[in-house]
Amino acid sequence: MVYLDNNATTAVAPEVVEAMLPFFETHWGNPSSLHTFGNRTKRHMDTAREKVAALIGASDPSEIMFTSCGSESNNTALRGAASALRNPPHVITSQVEHSAVLAPCALLEKEGGRLTHIAVNGEGHLDLDALKAAVAEGDAPVLASFMWANNETGVVFPVAEIGELIHSAEGLFHTDAVQAVGKLPVDVQNVPVDLLSLSGHKLHAPKGIGALYVRRGTRLNPLMLGGHQERARRAGTENVPYIVGLGRACELAMQRMEEDAAREQRLRDRLECGLLATCKGATVNGDPADRLPNTTNISFEHLEGEALLLMLDDVGICTSTGA
Ligand code: PLP
Repeated sequence: MVYLDNNATTAVAPEVVEAMLPFFETHWGNPSSLHTFGNRTKRHMDTAREKVAALIGASDPSEIMFTSCGSESNNTALRGAASALRNPPHVITSQVEHSAVLAPCALLEKEGGRLTHIAVNGEGHLDLDALKAAVAEGDAPVLASFMWANNETGVVFPVAEIGELIHSAEGLFHTDAVQAVGKLPVDVQNVPVDLLSLSGHKLHAPKGIGALYVRRGTRLNPLMLGGHQERARRAGTENVPYIVGLGRACELAMQRMEEDAAREQRLRDRLECGLLATCKGATVNGDPADRLPNTTNISFEHLEGEALLLMLDDVGICTSTGA
């Protein structure tokens, strides 16, 4: 089998499995417990938090809160930040976000906020003039959400420029970096983001673990009420084995990202070259230069995507037609 669907999910790295196992077998204490069992697991959870923080350049590990997935991180960021504002926000996002951003944005509109979707052009680039105009309206606190990199085309948004624009209007900026973290250098010191989502299963940790970066000073109400875990931002006993797995995956990404990205880009470019040379009417979608190194999105004239996907699966090649 040839697996070409790593933006849907990745295999769990053997090193990640190995790091997680002791937390099923021996270190099963509740990290909130004050005795030895609890302290031991808490220490490992703190180390994992430091590793996640290091991968995205967060200066303080307490800015990382663990969640169950990228979708939860996006929902917490948008709904939690909106509910901490005094007035309903002007929510600004793009037309090409993942549904885990689009759906909470639609909910915020239903709850009294205003919602603007910014278009992208044929190459997948955001209409920055339309964004400037939306931000300048200035009638409500801006809550903006723009993805770091697109899950279908791989096109990278100019998040630093977007963040500066949003901050110039004293707005809040969330970025869905689920597809970028582990594939591209992501540094919250160089990009003015207030909130950033990531997901374990996109970078060789298991499904069911994610994280949200919350810049110190950002007001965020919890979605899940109850205990005081995660600095009272998310009630519920932490999933320690998966948190440890995410920490190990982030550590591996730091060590391997540069080499992996170069290899994947070489393979991707070779595949595209071959396909474009041999398939009449094939086109690569999205800016060919400004893309994730692992992603290609190709249209084939007169061919229905799903039919092609099923035919490829028959010969052992796993692909995707979109999210
Ligand atoms: N955001 C983007 C850009 C994604 O590609 C995905 C998953 O495909 C998600 C959010 C949701 O992440 P999760 O599957 O961890 O909920």
